[in-house]
Amino acid sequence: MAMQIPGHELIYSGKVRELYAPLDPATGARDEGRLLLVASDRVSAYDHILSTPVPDKGAVLTQLSLWWFDQLADVVDAHHVVSTDVPAEVAGRAVYVRRLRMLPVECVARAFLTGGGLAEYRADGTVSGVGLPPGLVDGSRLPGPVFTPSTKAPVGEHDQPLPFAGVEDLVGTRLAARLRDLTVSILERGNEIAADRGILIADTKVEFGLDPAQLGLGTGDEIDWAAVDPDAVDVVLADEVLTPDSSRFWRADAWQPGRPQVSYDKQVLRDWLTSPASGWDRASDAPPPPLPDEVVELTRARYVEAYEALTGRPFTTPAPPLH
Ligand code: ATP
Ligand code: MG
Repeated sequence: MAMQIPGHELIYSGKVRELYAPLDPATGARDEGRLLLVASDRVSAYDHILSTPVPDKGAVLTQLSLWWFDQLADVVDAHHVVSTDVPAEVAGRAVYVRRLRMLPVECVARAFLTGGGLAEYRADGTVSGVGLPPGLVDGSRLPGPVFTPSTKAPVGEHDQPLPFAGVEDLVGTRLAARLRDLTVSILERGNEIAADRGILIADTKVEFGLDPAQLGLGTGDEIDWAAVDPDAVDVVLADEVLTPDSSRFWRADAWQPGRPQVSYDKQVLRDWLTSPASGWDRASDAPPPPLPDEVVELTRARYVEAYEALTGRPFTTPAPPLH
């Protein structure tokens, strides 16, 4: 799976990304301040990493995040990208970033009602505890974006919804309020920009981190989140932002509340996996089967289409395959 990159040490392998610490060419010591963040072509669906990669997916996610980091410059304090000048074997799909202490919360905001938000609304009339007007249906636009955070579950487990008070318990009231405001602003600005390009961003997940150097912390020192003054440090936007993996993108011209929406994301692949053609039983422990070529090609086309529709640029950064 993860590749060897000369001059770098692999420190984490996630569902989709690998993190490497650069090594000092003279001493071999790790650079603790930076990371090489590499997006592979792996696809996850229904909590499984599929055995078939989708070519160029990692490059699309990386390039689209870079474009959004620029667009969001005046919405966030800072983003984590330091340089796009990366080793040739991961060109196009990797960036050097500031190595941050990641806040232990998945910051989700929803502008439209669907998925887990819809399930809660149907049961309680709320989303993440926030009361909503009656009569909303699958795909309804919410009166305003709602922050619906969740836990960061360990690999193999589901993220669980976390009430806002739970975020306050984890990171303190000041940082919790800041995470909420930043997340909602990112989704609002994202939707202003996407609307001109025929896309609705139904919901999205972002991650933030703090720079240990700004906190005066050394490697291994623990953070007391509640003691952090969010006005005195950058709450840095990290990971990926407003991509088809982290967000639900819908086609605006086909949007029709009251039924599932036409989306840009992995729907093609999910539909195939749950169809009789795949022969896969989602409820079983069995891993999903390999994807047929046409499903891979359609999925790749969806990712590229999302990139091109949003940025208005052709996708010209194919990267060598990486699974
Ligand atoms: P998921 O995306 O579903 O939450 P994951 O952890 O498997 O799960 P990947 O995208 O594969 O996700 O891995 C990327 C990892 O890198 C995440 O754990 C993320 O928190 C971390 N990360 C992203 N940016 C930074 C950064 N600037 N500093 C430190 N860690 C980062
Ligand atoms: Mg991730």
